[in-house]
Amino acid sequence: VVVRAAMFDNLSRSLEKAQRLIGKTGTLTAENMKEPLKEVRRALLEADVSLPVVRRFVKKVEDRALGTKVLEGVTPDVQFIKVVSNELIDLMGGGVGAKDLEPGFPQIILMAGLQGVGKTTAAGKLALYLKKSKKSCLLVATDVYRPAAIDQLVKLGTAIDVPVFELGTQVDPVEIAKRGVEEAKRLGVDAVIVDTAGRLQVDEDMMGELRSIKSAVRPSDTLLVVDAMTGQEAANLVKAFNDAVDITGAILTKMDGDSRGGAALSVREVSGKPIKFVGVGEKMEALEPFYPERMASRILG
Ligand code: GDP
Repeated sequence: VVVRAAMFDNLSRSLEKAQRLIGKTGTLTAENMKEPLKEVRRALLEADVSLPVVRRFVKKVEDRALGTKVLEGVTPDVQFIKVVSNELIDLMGGGVGAKDLEPGFPQIILMAGLQGVGKTTAAGKLALYLKKSKKSCLLVATDVYRPAAIDQLVKLGTAIDVPVFELGTQVDPVEIAKRGVEEAKRLGVDAVIVDTAGRLQVDEDMMGELRSIKSAVRPSDTLLVVDAMTGQEAANLVKAFNDAVDITGAILTKMDGDSRGGAALSVREVSGKPIKFVGVGEKMEALEPFYPERMASRILG
């Protein structure tokens, strides 16, 4: 599946321009990097990367490029691209491959995120992903505010043949989560995924409930589901959730859509936590582990 994002076109185009501006002779200087860095900055802002993240990124590229001796046989323009590429990989968590789910028995995965971002879909996708790696799974439905949300999870569970634990809408979400995890232990499954209620915006009730569920079930992973379309707001959102519930990572959804992709660059920067998976479609199979290196090379074209 191809991750599409306008940001990729933008940045690779501005980097071509940067290469032309720097040229093939001489060395990298603050002077000849001025315009090229502006190009990078513009492309990232157009891609909806949040301003503080862009500022820090551009500064790092400049410092790194100035501090680097141009390698023999490599022209300065190519060297510049190499620095940008390395910093991009770094920004997204380093080139060490995809970050796995945290271990545990059972693994307890708490899903968090705003309403409509694809949280319930991601819970189903993750269950299927685990199932494919021969792990048995239980899904837990705690969104008691929207009966449709419970139905949706039950439907997804049926489609991928994973059991769903639910107690309807009249039981407290914390209690449902607790009993769901007990059930998972009783069944002896390898993993339990707790879907939670989202709100349209960050609010104290939601965070309070998440915190309570978290301390009741002590998850191995708390994954924040972020819609790639979120744009500039992604940075604030990730920070708010990370401050409230100390996430272990994020799932970036709808990377197949027309998003500008900037959220991919903000998550790690503002939280120090990795993107663990990306959602690339509505189907249950459309989930991929996130590889910073691959993403950087897609971004650079
Ligand atoms: P929730 O409110 O966060 O639980 O969101 P849902 O899981 O109900 O998803 C909201 C909508 O986004 C649904 O129509 C999903 O099919 C869609 N969706 C979720 N993930 C993706 C994705 O990775 N790509 C695309 N194109 N659509 C997605």
